[in-house]
Amino acid sequence: MRARLKSFMELERIASIEGLGDERKCAIFRVKTEILKTMTSDLLEKGFYWILPVMLSRATDPLWPDPGASIEKRPELEVYGVRVKAMQSMILHKRVLVSLGPERFFIYSPNIRIERRDRALTGRHLYEFTQLEVEVAYARMEDIFKIYEDLIAKSIRAVKERLRDELKLLGRDGIEVPETPFKVFKRREVEERYGADWELKLSRDLRNPAWVTDIPREFYDYEDEEAGEWRNFDLILPEGYGEVISGGEREYEYEKMLRKIERDGLRRENYEFILNLAKRGLLKPSAGAGLGVERFIAYVCGVRHVAEVQPFPRIPGIVSEL
Ligand code: AMP
Ligand code: MG
Repeated sequence: MRARLKSFMELERIASIEGLGDERKCAIFRVKTEILKTMTSDLLEKGFYWILPVMLSRATDPLWPDPGASIEKRPELEVYGVRVKAMQSMILHKRVLVSLGPERFFIYSPNIRIERRDRALTGRHLYEFTQLEVEVAYARMEDIFKIYEDLIAKSIRAVKERLRDELKLLGRDGIEVPETPFKVFKRREVEERYGADWELKLSRDLRNPAWVTDIPREFYDYEDEEAGEWRNFDLILPEGYGEVISGGEREYEYEKMLRKIERDGLRRENYEFILNLAKRGLLKPSAGAGLGVERFIAYVCGVRHVAEVQPFPRIPGIVSEL
């Protein structure tokens, strides 16, 4: 089970540049390198295009409504006389690209999310982090499960085979390659068992990562209105590490998306480009997800805080010199 960090002083030590060269940090960076190499190679072997990210845009993920969101500010700046936002995720860009360009691709996408200060000690939040985003045209939820199950199992296997000493140094040589396919729970099922704040309680009970489906949230995830079910999901890691992936099948119909945008109280003009594509029948159905890279590495390394896997961690409430 993951140990919890308890004090701000410990956090400031993690954020400081003093420990950058120590043995423990080096072991973490080697594990991180092995994981990124394994994941990237696997996606390339599967024929995915490798797309580079954008970081400023007039439109970004509203992150609303999302039961897990805790953003205190949405940074904007003016470029060439136009207001642009820092990327909160590339979901809107992914939907456009998968419809008009390559039908399967991945992106290491840096996100800026100014999380509330009280998130500093959760061990799971940074205000800059990276998602490994994947999107596939005409895919179903189950296709995306398989892609990430492979990424997770293969990268843990690679670390266990190649970096035994590093895992030992981190006290993590006991980590097992998870069994695939992972178990799938319905959100209603876990809510009944654990209550509305099921994420961490479920996580502490798990021995193997598990999917949870049907989570009411942003307009772009597909809602099967007949079945009364959202075709979306989270992946929950064991040992109290919590959510590491969110994804889903996507909406592509004009009327339905418009209705959901209005239902959520969002400003339609921010999504006009995607609504226009849908109206012209050009928005393809797709499915995809994003994996929190720092959270996954934190789990593999068995560390107490995601900040430990970054040389210059952006911990909520702490703005370092560098
Ligand atoms: P989301 O689409 O909001 O669920 O974000 C996708 C994934 O990014 C999550 O499942 C997490 O693994 C990761 N993530 C989200 N917010 C943060 C954060 N503040 N710090 C670190 N990782 C995060
Ligand atoms: Mg999520």
